[in-house]
Amino acid sequence: MKQVTQNDAFSAMRIKLFLIIIGALFTIWLILLGLVYSLMANELFGLLDNGLQTYAIHTIHSHMNNKADITSSAGHASSSDTKYNYSLWQRVPGNSITYSVFIDGNPFVSPMSIYKVAQNHPDGIFKTINIQGIPYRAFFAVIHFQRGDFIIRVTTSAARTDTTLSNLLWTLGIVGFFALGITIMIGLWLSSRILSPSIRAWKRQQQFVADASHELRTPLAIIKTNLEVLLRHPEHTIESELHWLGNAYSEVLSTTTLIEDLLTLARADSMEILIEHEEIDLSALIHEVADTVQPLAEDQEKDLKWETPEFPCKTIGDIKRLRQLLLILLDNALKYTNSGAIISVTLGCDTNFTQIAVKDTGIGIPVNQLPKIFDRFMRGDSSRHRENQGSGLGLSIAKWIVEAHGGNIIVNSTVGKGSTFTVKLPS
Ligand code: ADP
Repeated sequence: MKQVTQNDAFSAMRIKLFLIIIGALFTIWLILLGLVYSLMANELFGLLDNGLQTYAIHTIHSHMNNKADITSSAGHASSSDTKYNYSLWQRVPGNSITYSVFIDGNPFVSPMSIYKVAQNHPDGIFKTINIQGIPYRAFFAVIHFQRGDFIIRVTTSAARTDTTLSNLLWTLGIVGFFALGITIMIGLWLSSRILSPSIRAWKRQQQFVADASHELRTPLAIIKTNLEVLLRHPEHTIESELHWLGNAYSEVLSTTTLIEDLLTLARADSMEILIEHEEIDLSALIHEVADTVQPLAEDQEKDLKWETPEFPCKTIGDIKRLRQLLLILLDNALKYTNSGAIISVTLGCDTNFTQIAVKDTGIGIPVNQLPKIFDRFMRGDSSRHRENQGSGLGLSIAKWIVEAHGGNIIVNSTVGKGSTFTVKLPS
């Protein structure tokens, strides 16, 4: 059975999207071009029709006034440069149409044929007819006057209108052809543009899942190996096997942290985590977090200092997440420094921004790693040693927290001298 890969699915989706876009755009083009054509046709035929109707009325009036000019050239008459032909009959009251009396114009048109077309149209009707292959516009009408009913057909050549319209059709066809080309290009561009963020997000997600599984495999293997050692000696006391139990326990602890971090990022990606919007006094928060970390720093013979302004620095945000951010930065500062290091947290603010800097005199970060430092599962060489317990997710979470608060985070670092992480938040 053929396996459908995600790439196949994306190609199929792209093709579908492309077809939908060009279908929609092309329909719009067709409607627009159709509208231009029908407006133009209406306008041109409207002009012809007006002339025909005026001429028909004028003809009947002339006949009633016994003017001779309408009979000129046997049913041909011209007004300006438009030539009209007509056939005029008068109906004999009480008799069938065929008994109508021919009055003037072209006698070879039967009054019955005019009557058939016009009978249901009190204001007369316009039609395009073909006479010997030439298009004519014709007006058929049965007109009631006190002196009787007149049956009239007036025609005029529609050849010029026809040529103009067929030229217009050609032009619109060419425009339509180019429009199709442009539509295809727009369709290709749009379909790849619309899909690329999804493809990128999907690839990132896939990489994330692969990295997460990889990260989970190692601690689980360690736990398994340590428990297997215990199982081999069921007669031993817990005390005598504390070493293996301790190993398994510390792996469980680090796996728990890893899973929590993974969950945080997964929820952040799916916008599941809501960021609270409460007023936070950052000076107080820094004091609280630094106080918690201080014993650990002392334990590692590191000097942790913090400095906050006299006045309160406030921001709007989620206190739990901002506490997590400070803990991540301080935890890193402790992890990537040696004993005797100085770690400082400074806070500053003005009316627009609040700035927190966490500085250490630790191992620093190589220049080539700096651009990737906030990427998921990015770990420097030093943290690959398992004693550091780093998952490579701390800074990704830190970045997400800062950005979710509308701020940004940057790092400055020199190998062997130390690093400074600076967080800027709106005040
Ligand atoms: P980890 O769990 O590995 O600490 P982080 O996302 O917190 O993951 O950090 C990513 C990498 O950035 C770390 O592996 C480390 O190499 C580097 N790093 C972070 N903070 C510091 C720091 N203060 N000093 C030196 N390197 C740091």
